[in-house]
Amino acid sequence: MSFEKLGLIKPLLGAIKELGFEHPTAIQKRAIPLVLAKEDVFATAQTGTGKTAAFGLPLLQRLRNTTAAEDRVIRGVILSPTRELSIQIFEDMKSYSKHMSLGCAVLVGGKDLESQQRLLKKGIDIIIATPGRLMEHVEKGLNISQVEIFVVDEADRMLDMGFAKELRKVHPLLPKRHQTLLFAATYSDKVRKLSKLLLTKPTFIEISKKNSTVDTINQIAYMVDTDKKAALLAYLIGSRNYPQVLVFTRTKASADALVIELKKDGLKCGIIHGDKTQANRQKTLNEFKEGIIKVLVATDIASRGLDIEELPFVINYELPSVPEDYVHRVGRTGRAGRNGEAISLLDVYEKFDIKDIERVIGMKIPKETVAGFEPDPTLRRADADEVKLKNEHKKPEVTYHKRNMKKPSSNKRAEVTKKTDTKKTDTNKKTEPRKKIVTNKKAFSSKKSKTSK
Ligand code: AMP
Repeated sequence: MSFEKLGLIKPLLGAIKELGFEHPTAIQKRAIPLVLAKEDVFATAQTGTGKTAAFGLPLLQRLRNTTAAEDRVIRGVILSPTRELSIQIFEDMKSYSKHMSLGCAVLVGGKDLESQQRLLKKGIDIIIATPGRLMEHVEKGLNISQVEIFVVDEADRMLDMGFAKELRKVHPLLPKRHQTLLFAATYSDKVRKLSKLLLTKPTFIEISKKNSTVDTINQIAYMVDTDKKAALLAYLIGSRNYPQVLVFTRTKASADALVIELKKDGLKCGIIHGDKTQANRQKTLNEFKEGIIKVLVATDIASRGLDIEELPFVINYELPSVPEDYVHRVGRTGRAGRNGEAISLLDVYEKFDIKDIERVIGMKIPKETVAGFEPDPTLRRADADEVKLKNEHKKPEVTYHKRNMKKPSSNKRAEVTKKTDTKKTDTNKKTEPRKKIVTNKKAFSSKKSKTSK
């Protein structure tokens, strides 16, 4: 199947060729004809499947007939949850529309409202925005009553980030007749509820197994003690000569602490998280893309918008607190059919947390150790028996999804204790309470318990 067969017009086919896309991806094959036929679409597609072009190309084609700059009205709105993702979509849209005369603008926080308002007067047909910033513009008079196509990208993430209110406010301001395209990387009851509000007789596209990770990613986990994680990470990057690595931490503070440690090992690192300014994040991302920075440490919030060509390695320095974020994190590698590797470093707590992730992705992640970094077998979490018992009695996958993805208990970290008795414990028998000897007092583990996302 070729892009020509999907009915795309010449200016778009030219741009696609220049980008080096030879064949449409699965989501593009399914979505492009539906969008061109003006249907509402509800698609669940993994990160890296080519979903931006799946909605972007036909949207540009549908809106191709534009008027003189001064008469233009907003006819396309694309909402995305984060600034980074919005900027990425904007850049993609610019490259798809390079042979067309449509005007696109990106409206995100961190830039001043007035300069964005001035830009909107220069003949803009399509805006790409975060929900909060779109509402700010609407409150200042931006007219969205003539929108023909409304796209909600990464709807699940948007809801997780608390944007339901903004979506409910935007919806009645759109004209009665418009086309809506809803994209979500993972599937949840919340997204389904939103689809009922936003979509009219949608066609449903499910590209891959629910919440599964991309097939081309090799996934592995290394068991290691919390206080040896930074050293193991530096060792892996150095000894395996990883050219470019994206490292995820659970919190901003552990990202900061990790960067300090890695710099001591002489690694060139950058950091992206919610406390960094938009300009700073963009600069770091560019330096990473250009290879000036070898290691990019990021939190989950920042992970959504990152699109780095041929990124071979993603390392989960800490597992995410929401299992679905694992899918988003590792989706940064193995993009559009390329091979990638996702490594997770698991300490005594995460050994249990990973089971929730395995349930969501529907597969077991192999667990190994690295010579010289083997975990201390006598270390165990204080509530280990309780957690083990809970895991053994967890309901199967389907029921878990219906329960609306309860967060695993990993946010609240229990103390680490030293086993006084190293013999295997029978969890069905009542055991004597163990003597707690709190270990791992080093910087990393202690910082974790104080941090916020
Ligand atoms: P997305 O899922 O939209 O974030 O896209 C993931 C990556 O795949 C981006 O780097 C796109 O440029 C790339 N891509 C999208 N469609 C194709 C295609 N048909 N062939 C090759 N690469 C593609």
